[in-house]
Amino acid sequence: MALLFTKNFGDLIVPFATKIGLLLSAATFLASGQSGGRFEETKRQALAYLESDQYDRAAGKLEEIWEQDHSDPTVAENLALAYLNGDDRRYHPEAETKARDLFEQSLHAGGRATFMVQHSHEKAGFFEGRIITNYCVGMLSVSPGRLVYVARARKGVEAHSFDVSADDVRLTKPDDMGVFTIKTKAKNYTLIPRNRIKGDSDVIVEVIREQLGTK
Ligand SMILES: [Zn+2]
Repeated sequence: MALLFTKNFGDLIVPFATKIGLLLSAATFLASGQSGGRFEETKRQALAYLESDQYDRAAGKLEEIWEQDHSDPTVAENLALAYLNGDDRRYHPEAETKARDLFEQSLHAGGRATFMVQHSHEKAGFFEGRIITNYCVGMLSVSPGRLVYVARARKGVEAHSFDVSADDVRLTKPDDMGVFTIKTKAKNYTLIPRNRIKGDSDVIVEVIREQLGTK
């Protein structure tokens, strides 16, 4: 708000605009303090756990919210992501079904389905000795008509991220190891779920086809 005023009316108006901006943010803060303040802090903690790959802890925090409140599709999106990547999944195979259900709820509410993947930088894909040393890790997000990959911060990471619409994407079927390729007009991206679970590749490709109408 303050920025908009500054741009339109020049420097003279800044102190006034800043004041309005401050008042507005104070009002927003108060409002959220009354309704969802406790959730905001829990969400913040959950995101910090996700960023440091502590998926089971993230799931615990997000469950706390989701059990009481379904208003934020990003909670469903991130809880599904946490279920698919957590260690608990080994002892709770139902985590996969729960994740799929949460992705559907997120997409239905205007949110996204997000998956943790590795992007191979090897020319031959993933097959050389099965151990990939040259790759980046990132989040692949699917929403109606749109596919976004955001590589985690590393050198030259912009070159690996993409944001494309449905008519700019083709897909290959996952192979036996779960490797699949996303072909955009600009580039081909060879990807595999970071957890290396082949079934997750099938889910990812299925969700992309469903949301983008891609072949
Ligand atoms: Zn990459």
